[in-house]
Amino acid sequence: MDIFLTNTLGKTKQRFTPITPGKVSIYTCGPTVYHYAHIGNLRSFVFADLLKRMFIANNYKVEHVMNITDVGHLTSDADDGEDKLEKGARREGKTVWEVAQYYTDHFMEDLSRLNIMLPDHMPKATDHIAEMISIIKNLEEKGYTYIAEGNVYFDTQKYAEYADFAGLKLNEEDARSRVDEDEHKKSPFDFVLWFTRYKYSSHEMEWDSPWGRGFPGWHIECSAMSTKYLGDHFDIHTGGIDHIPVHHTNEIAQSTCAFGHKWVNYWMHNNFLVLGEDEKISKSKDNFLRLQTLMDKGISGLDYRYFLLGAHYRKPQTFSFEGLEAAKTSLRKLVQKYKDVSVRDGRNEDEFDIFYTKFLEAMNDDLNTPQALAVFWETVQDTNIDVGTKRSLFDAYDAVLGIGLKEQAERKEEIPDDVLALKSERDKARVLKNWAESDRLRDEIVSKGFEVLDSKDGTEIRKA
Ligand SMILES: [Zn+2]
Repeated sequence: MDIFLTNTLGKTKQRFTPITPGKVSIYTCGPTVYHYAHIGNLRSFVFADLLKRMFIANNYKVEHVMNITDVGHLTSDADDGEDKLEKGARREGKTVWEVAQYYTDHFMEDLSRLNIMLPDHMPKATDHIAEMISIIKNLEEKGYTYIAEGNVYFDTQKYAEYADFAGLKLNEEDARSRVDEDEHKKSPFDFVLWFTRYKYSSHEMEWDSPWGRGFPGWHIECSAMSTKYLGDHFDIHTGGIDHIPVHHTNEIAQSTCAFGHKWVNYWMHNNFLVLGEDEKISKSKDNFLRLQTLMDKGISGLDYRYFLLGAHYRKPQTFSFEGLEAAKTSLRKLVQKYKDVSVRDGRNEDEFDIFYTKFLEAMNDDLNTPQALAVFWETVQDTNIDVGTKRSLFDAYDAVLGIGLKEQAERKEEIPDDVLALKSERDKARVLKNWAESDRLRDEIVSKGFEVLDSKDGTEIRKA
């Protein structure tokens, strides 16, 4: 079945053709780990995960890279802003390395709560300084750079197609929007590849380079890490639409000039999550919502994921707690429906194909998740489909949407109070290393029709 994707390069929906048949390489701009991830940013990671799962459903072998930006970079796209990691470190009285590790751990937890499949590679910028330096040297040798006051700049005027990707006018207005304060640039669109001169003399993250001790600009890291793992020509690059005019424009400029050929075939961008009044939610404002904020209000990561499926990734999605509650209720219903068909007894292949084809057509059509959900509910409501086929369809849909039906159906199982009391007695016995008592209590729980699963994270009780 054909796959259609909206390509920011060309601004049209195009039939996807992989570089290597049966394979797809995807790079996703990852988080900057100087703070918790905002739920708006998380939208772009759920989007990338849906893209990946759609390809898997189409029998592609996917290679997915998501970077971790742990080098401090600047609070604005101008090169004279404030370093985000240093700012985080000052705020919290930690070193920048501690800040980066702390928020990386939290980010990984968010991915898990959102049921996002881990990328094949999650490279950290600080582990790839040599690769960045190598690309900058390459650009320097080819004459695309200049040095001013100790910093190495990319000379955008040497790359004639610079404005094309984002449709920039390169006029005064676009230039002003760069909030530029760096008088050393030849053009306001130029950007720093390597810093040796910067605002804070106490910068903690520094490396040696041919241009002196310092640190890389932000954009170069994505060119370096994507290329290291996916080669210098790969299929898809994803990110939020806010990356189009600066970050991705700069990535394309430096990569195309360094490698001397087309770098990425398809660029896909998700739209914003917006507050009621169409206000972009951003970290710099006070309305900072993170996944934990939702969880504190009883909304799980999977509820939020289900909510996100309700809007097409290219459209702005309006955030509201009512919307989240509605998503939560719908997901509960689906989990219940899943439980109702939990006995699997074969499936009718023809019937399965009719529904699954409709579902996959929706996903293959530029990830039309609202339409895919409509097919899901149509399947739920169709009383003519036999139970085994329904169960098969639910599992197949869930493999693509990632809403964790099976896991929730099992987890939400009611465990009676007397069994929970026995479990708690047993937990205590285990802490006290009273193994005889622990075994006796396990037998008692099992005799009531439950399974006892011990792991290093604790004990789980399930219906046998
Ligand atoms: Zn990037």
